Amino acid sequence: MTAQATRVRQSRTGRSNGQWAVDGREPLNHNEEFKAEDNGLNVRERIEKVYAREGFDAIPADDLHGRFRWWGLYTQRKPGIDGGRTAQLEPHELEDRFFMLRVRSDGELLSPAALAVLGSISTDFARGTADITDRQNIQYHWISVEDMPEIWRRLETVGLETTEACGDTPRGFLGSPVAGVAADEIIDPTPVIAEIKRRYLGDPELANLPRKFKSAITGHPSLDVAHEINDVSLVGVVHPELGPGYDLWVGGALSTTPRLAERLGTFVTAEQAPDVWHGVIRIFRDYGYRRLRTKARLKFLLAEWGTEKFREVLENEYLGYRLADGPAPARATSPGDHVGVHEQKDGRSYVGAAPVVGRVSGSTLTDVGTLVERVGASGVRLTAHQKLVVLDVPSDRVEELVEGLEAIGLSTRPSPFRRNTVACTGIEFCKLAIVDTKDTAAATIAELEQRLAGVELDTPISLHVNGCPNSCARIQTADIGLKGQIITTDDGEQVPGFQVHLGGGLASDDREEGGLGRTVRGLKVAAADLPDYVERVVRRFLAERDGTET
Ligand code: SF4
Repeated sequence: MTAQATRVRQSRTGRSNGQWAVDGREPLNHNEEFKAEDNGLNVRERIEKVYAREGFDAIPADDLHGRFRWWGLYTQRKPGIDGGRTAQLEPHELEDRFFMLRVRSDGELLSPAALAVLGSISTDFARGTADITDRQNIQYHWISVEDMPEIWRRLETVGLETTEACGDTPRGFLGSPVAGVAADEIIDPTPVIAEIKRRYLGDPELANLPRKFKSAITGHPSLDVAHEINDVSLVGVVHPELGPGYDLWVGGALSTTPRLAERLGTFVTAEQAPDVWHGVIRIFRDYGYRRLRTKARLKFLLAEWGTEKFREVLENEYLGYRLADGPAPARATSPGDHVGVHEQKDGRSYVGAAPVVGRVSGSTLTDVGTLVERVGASGVRLTAHQKLVVLDVPSDRVEELVEGLEAIGLSTRPSPFRRNTVACTGIEFCKLAIVDTKDTAAATIAELEQRLAGVELDTPISLHVNGCPNSCARIQTADIGLKGQIITTDDGEQVPGFQVHLGGGLASDDREEGGLGRTVRGLKVAAADLPDYVERVVRRFLAERDGTET
């Protein structure tokens, strides 16, 4: 903690909230205890030297359920346990002896060599699984602890890592997938992300946060990183006197208490950006509420402080200088998923393609790498919408690339349903899940593509599918958001289904401004009836909307 950070004291109202800078560092719950006892980053050495040799049973509980996350590892759900039993069983009863593993990409380019390595890890160690997550990670399943040393060795040959991919840490950055290449870019955030990672990724001083900390940085006018739902976001703007730089947003997050990020009204230059990011994360570390994990995200501190005080503390205690006032970003100019063929500023093209709900496989990743190399493109970036974008495609090879992608199941001209549907991991692998998500969403997309084949949809209608009340698939920011639960049908039968939320959206979804969807009280849909329900909503929306209403 900085010496400065202790200067501001809040008046105590009753019991301690566990804010280090106010209440001291006494751990107030078991999570805080195990983090204080030994930094999560230290577990990697034990994995490599002990657990990889001695196996799953040698792993003590605090490492297995706690510190492993600091290196991107979670135990996955045991197959065959239905969602109705999720809340009835103890966590260890739901747990398999295999892991989910996240590899962070941080908006960076994945070269053909990196794609080959990612593909080989899937094929050799993950039973062929690989998902593109909406945080630009690659997520594997069926990982054994014995294989982790070799997986890290392979990743490191191509500059990839799992450091702080999960846990109470600075998680993977969302970065604009078209950074540095788009003709209409305001500012290229690549150097800022690289500098923040170089200085702070794996920094033990930032590896015991109250909860996870999510960052997003873009300089593209499509606002392509879902900046409203990150703990800290830097969004490209042009200052009338100072030129291109960033608008700073803080305190966004969804889950069961959703809250959109707010602007502090400051203008941040590229040179200031790493320090500002460091200031915000240290405010979170020092002042975040650690007593209850459900109240620990930065959004709760922002709700109490307000933007004015947040800015004051950032400038006075952490930066030591004032930031200039600055403008807000303009309305998004194009969809932030970058699907389709687009011309770059150097005359080459970038090409965005959609898998179905982010699901790829080891062989898909390997094939993409081979294809990218064959057409002379430079590599692939992942998007915040579970898509991928191929960069630097020579103009005369675009058609060849498009056909090649299509042949391996990646569409550059997806149906509106495939393009705008996002699904979380769900019951297949997630211990918290109550219902299936990926397969249900994929079947719904296939059905809607048939039923609504001739229907002209001039505005996107997004469908986000969550397997439980958490919001990994950002349901409150979708036109139709679905929260997994067991529902009771009219016949009294208990079946997997969803609570419906309607009318959410982010600025990047072609909205005037972002807004959270609303729960439609009592509106629950059985998973099996999802295509019927979505079809009805779409047809009714088209028939009854007011002008260009979204
Ligand atoms: Fe698991 Fe729930 Fe997150 Fe889906 S929303 S991945 S089911 S915790």
